[in-house]
Amino acid sequence: MIVERVKVRVKCDASGCNERSDYVIVNKRFVFDGNVYLCANCMNELYGEIGKYIIPKNVKPLYERRAKGETK
Ligand SMILES: [Zn+2]
Repeated sequence: MIVERVKVRVKCDASGCNERSDYVIVNKRFVFDGNVYLCANCMNELYGEIGKYIIPKNVKPLYERRAKGETK
């Protein structure tokens, strides 16, 4: 699953949103087929929601980095 910048003019897929999409989630692995187009606002909102549950693997919590001396 990858996220790309939208190059064509497509409406945001979020229901009730009439903005032009800025990003597209391209997936070839999921059960449902097709791309998901999202505008910057909806993408931001989604990112915030995801962040409640998942911390990206390459982003270690600050306390962990401090313990290992990676930051001050
Ligand atoms: Zn939107």
